[in-house]
Amino acid sequence: MSTAFLTIDLDAITANWRALDAMTAGETAAVVKADAYGLGAAKVARSLARAGARHFFVAVAEEGAALRDTLGSGPAIYVFSGHMPGDADMIGDMHLTPMINSLEQMIRHVESLPGHPFGIQLDSGMNRLGMEPGEWAALRDIALAQDPRLIMSHLACADESDHAMNPQQLATFREMTDGLDVPRSLANTGGILLDAAYHFDLARPGIGLYGGRPFAEARAVVTLDIPVIQCRDLAPGETVGYANGFTAPRETRIATVAAGYADGILRAMGPKTSLWAEDIPCPIAGRISMDLICVDITDLGHDPKSLQLLGPYQSIDTLADHADTIGYEILTSLGARYTRRYIGG
Ligand SMILES: *Cc1c(COP(=O)(O)O)cnc(C)c1O
Repeated sequence: MSTAFLTIDLDAITANWRALDAMTAGETAAVVKADAYGLGAAKVARSLARAGARHFFVAVAEEGAALRDTLGSGPAIYVFSGHMPGDADMIGDMHLTPMINSLEQMIRHVESLPGHPFGIQLDSGMNRLGMEPGEWAALRDIALAQDPRLIMSHLACADESDHAMNPQQLATFREMTDGLDVPRSLANTGGILLDAAYHFDLARPGIGLYGGRPFAEARAVVTLDIPVIQCRDLAPGETVGYANGFTAPRETRIATVAAGYADGILRAMGPKTSLWAEDIPCPIAGRISMDLICVDITDLGHDPKSLQLLGPYQSIDTLADHADTIGYEILTSLGARYTRRYIGG
């Protein structure tokens, strides 16, 4: 077998959820959109439900329907995209709570599923989803009469704790919602870490559960071990890989491992990234190709059976920095070919 092993520590995810939950006075949900950031929504959500999570957020109704099959009837499942055309049966049958984003969605919802639970998503400045202040002012009394379960908005810059956008969005959200008798939700992971003023009744962490920035104290969740297929010696001046991307400066030993950019190992991270043999870094030699990566193991002194891309010595955020992206993209890119192993849960 030459597929790489992706190990997902469910106990670390539940520990991260508990740690974030302990920081807030209100309740703490779990955001499990995009297959729980690539880590497996069914396994992740089941573990979190056992740990006590009662509220889950997904991006689209299809994800919510699958999650309902996993979780059974107890927990609330909220859909960020709201109520889209064609969603009524799924929302109704699977008891999903759409976060209504517009007057159009509101009409669609009350006409197709009168009396069915829903929430309201407000735009407090991000200009991505939700009703703007004017639209909300016009719709508010009608919406409130329909008994919304939750009112939420989303922070654009919560990972930058001193960004002026944060207090500005907080003030806008409060202007739009103060005095209403409906539970409120504003904070993602970054929002939880900002200040209690952002917490309201329900926090919505995603990346912090999965071990990513800005939750610096998070326990690491993923380990990725890639088998070595072959090792070879190079004389000085010999080259490795496409476009002769690496030229041996000395007698060099190269290991070729069984994963590449088709497995979500972004080509852009190549020049700065090493694979690790325990605590010894072995630099990537030349370009990352589709299914293979060549690694300079000269200084290691032996031929390893596998090398590690993610683990105690290299985090998703380190790889993100190397590829000029964010940990979220590293996680959601994790390949379908990996053999997945789950610990705990
Ligand atoms: C993805 C998302 C979250 C979770 O954000 P993190 O930064 O991963 O904690 C919360 N709310 C909304 C609306 C989202 O889209």
